[in-house]
Amino acid sequence: MKNLWEKYSDEEKKSIQDFCEGYRDFLSTHKTEREFVDYAVEEAEKQGFKSLESVISSGKKLSAGDKVYAVYMNKTIATFVLGTEPLEKGMLITAAHIDSPRLDIKQKPLYESQGFCMMDTHYYGGIKKYQWTALPLALHGVICKKDGTTKKVVFGEDENGPVIGLSDLLPHLEKKDDKKDFSGEDLNLLIGNTPANVEKDKFKTFIINLLKEKGIDEQDFLSAEIEVVPSGKARNFGLDNSMIMAYGQDDRVCGYTSLKSIFEVENPKYTCVSLLVDKEEIGSVGATGMQSKFFENVVAEIMNAQGDYSELKVRRTMQNSATLSSDVTGAVDPNFTSPYNTETDAHFARGVNFNKYTGHRGKYESNDANPEFIAKLRDCFDNANVNYQMTEMGKVDQGGGGTIAYIMANYGMNVIDAGVPVLNMHAPWEITSKADIYETYKCYKAFYNFELSK
Ligand code: MN
Ligand code: MN
Repeated sequence: MKNLWEKYSDEEKKSIQDFCEGYRDFLSTHKTEREFVDYAVEEAEKQGFKSLESVISSGKKLSAGDKVYAVYMNKTIATFVLGTEPLEKGMLITAAHIDSPRLDIKQKPLYESQGFCMMDTHYYGGIKKYQWTALPLALHGVICKKDGTTKKVVFGEDENGPVIGLSDLLPHLEKKDDKKDFSGEDLNLLIGNTPANVEKDKFKTFIINLLKEKGIDEQDFLSAEIEVVPSGKARNFGLDNSMIMAYGQDDRVCGYTSLKSIFEVENPKYTCVSLLVDKEEIGSVGATGMQSKFFENVVAEIMNAQGDYSELKVRRTMQNSATLSSDVTGAVDPNFTSPYNTETDAHFARGVNFNKYTGHRGKYESNDANPEFIAKLRDCFDNANVNYQMTEMGKVDQGGGGTIAYIMANYGMNVIDAGVPVLNMHAPWEITSKADIYETYKCYKAFYNFELSK
């Protein structure tokens, strides 16, 4: 299969670089699910989308061509453009997750050790723990006060300001297996080394006094959600400038392309949806994960706002829909080829990646997309000149993974995984190909014209 850069025209190359500059910019300043949702709301409003909440409270009736969005708990967002066909004929959904592996600050984080003030963390999602040491790190999150106010926290992103980080042992004192022994409880942030003028807990007290000046009490960490992420901007990658290196491209690369695609939909036949959910990295659990009833509830609200609600019609809507489970896959790594089947796994610059199934040990726990559906997708994407590859992730029995595909499939709808191949997946700095990002964007746009009827 050809590397796509061989066939792109100069004009296409320019479109790709332009699109990816916007993406890179976005990545640099939106590193958490909350920050992504804030961005999505701001951009959606600019594009003329209305919040579903405001539509409901105004009593206005929704109809074909209307654009609405619904946010849940500031960490999940569904964006709709309503079709001319009734909702029960089905929706066209691109569904990505906007949480990424990271370290979370514990609820009782502050302590001191060896003359340092430290912060205790609990990692979130699948990480190789040693990769998070000896790096500039930043804090992004919220502190919720008893008085009902919420403080947004961003620390460690000012280029000339301080960062924080995790220390690592010098090689001179390291035994062979120390890296393997790195435990979750060892992930403690160094945040200060100045003593306060007190007898006890000098180093912790100094930091507590600093926080007090900013209106934060130590107890406020009880009701805080603060994420530790790599500090710094997303970068272009490669001497040829063909790739992007950034934190959290799993799965903001599909979230961003999904959102950009829905913004280009006007008066569609079927209702089109960009669904961006939280908690995929820890099993899609909780009120903001895909297993939550949030999305189904929103669909019911929209149907009601169209003046056409029935429980049966909501069920038909879900079942008759089709979803591109918009998530990344691991790309073949030239430094680690042995876990891959290089014939059947994903490569950079071969286009948007489809996984018919994911799972592990004999497709266990996977959604196995229907060939009838895939045949129609092939027709749709070939007609729209979308370059795609159909792959697996790793050798059979090598390991595996899951996405939200099976949860969407629980409604009885057609679902397939479609997204961008990634190198360094789940590492602090992940790499993607600009060609694949652009083909994924083209794919999602084409999918919003997919024909659902037989
Ligand atoms: Mn993912
Ligand atoms: Mn992941």
